[in-house]
Amino acid sequence: MSHDSEYIIIGAGVIGLSTALELGTRHPTSRIIILAKHLPGDRSTEYCSPWAGANWLSVATDGGRQEGWDRVTYEKFGDLADEKGNETGVKRLPIRAWFDREMDEAGVLSVEGEGKGRIWYKGLTGLRFVEEGKPEGSVFGFECASFVVDVQRYLPWLQGEVLKKGIDILRVSVDDIGEVFERFPGAKAVFNCTGLGSYNLKGVEDKLLYPTRGQVMLVENPKTPMTRMYFRSPQRVNKDTTYIFPRNPGGGVILGGCRVDNDWSGEVSMDFAEDIKRRCCALAPELGRPEDLKVIQHGVGLRPSRKGGARVEREIISDVVVIHNYGAGGAGYQASWGMAKNAVDLVAEHTKL
Ligand code: FAD
Repeated sequence: MSHDSEYIIIGAGVIGLSTALELGTRHPTSRIIILAKHLPGDRSTEYCSPWAGANWLSVATDGGRQEGWDRVTYEKFGDLADEKGNETGVKRLPIRAWFDREMDEAGVLSVEGEGKGRIWYKGLTGLRFVEEGKPEGSVFGFECASFVVDVQRYLPWLQGEVLKKGIDILRVSVDDIGEVFERFPGAKAVFNCTGLGSYNLKGVEDKLLYPTRGQVMLVENPKTPMTRMYFRSPQRVNKDTTYIFPRNPGGGVILGGCRVDNDWSGEVSMDFAEDIKRRCCALAPELGRPEDLKVIQHGVGLRPSRKGGARVEREIISDVVVIHNYGAGGAGYQASWGMAKNAVDLVAEHTKL
């Protein structure tokens, strides 16, 4: 097949793979190549995507593009869950979320607007405030319809869809973005989806990026089936966060966690793991006692956070169009399809110039 244009994507995390699929769908006659140091199946603290829980619970309150990214993804996850069965690892599952601060400080709901509380995203269904099972110290809680993403299934599925579209994936570690311009001089645009890698990638070196460390563990599914996710935190974005994401059916349960800014350590703390077990068992009765949990694996991931929020933006570097798409922090799954769409829209913007 002859190609009318060529695009390069650096990065094969959830952002790079989603961007490749969006680009391949909208530019089917183009040649697209992904270059990445780490691919689905790899485990490294330089590769955030495999360590996520993951779920959809928006943190966006900007009334603007961040909310838009999450809304696009909410709708896309709905399609994937309803049309593809268990294949993708994306499933509908309600979440029960508890907050230990008053609503206006919790960073989630506002008392203004529609209904009892305005949710940040109107498309969110099944929202109701709950009292039953309220943990001591919590101020309020709600339940809503959401999605759980079994990332161990989802990342290979994304990669498979990419390959089905004829997109090539090359394992390449890029030191300087200029190397990509030299190797692919005809590229119409280079998408930079390197996550935290953009901190050191020469030609970009974005020092607004910083890691937000998270520690999780994968445990065996409890005998009592889990029909919801759980979340508890002082605020939606806070270092002391507890969450339980069942990877139904039978993929185990992710227990977490924490959000520690500016901590680059990839080491698992076994003392902290005990704390996670205790907090999770107190929140989800289905899990039973901490000492009875069957732990399969511990993990630490570094979320690619960025002062001012994710960077989805076009920049000309050495006369080459670079479309940045990185810095999703703790929202890379729930914002992925919206960020991908936004990034690919920037190609068209360039074409018009
Ligand atoms: P990455 O997954 O880090 O991928 C970066 C890619 O770029 C890799 O392929 C890497 O090899 C490549 N790369 C980097 N530098 C170079 C280079 N120089 N040359 C070549 N290749 C390079 N998000 C949610 O939405 N919901 C959740 O519930 C959730 N829970 C989380 C829980 C934990 C514990 C953690 C750690 C994260 C969680 N996240 C969650 C956040 C989410 O995982 C991240 O936002 C997302 O994975 C970021 O994806 P990415 O593709 O930008 O980066």
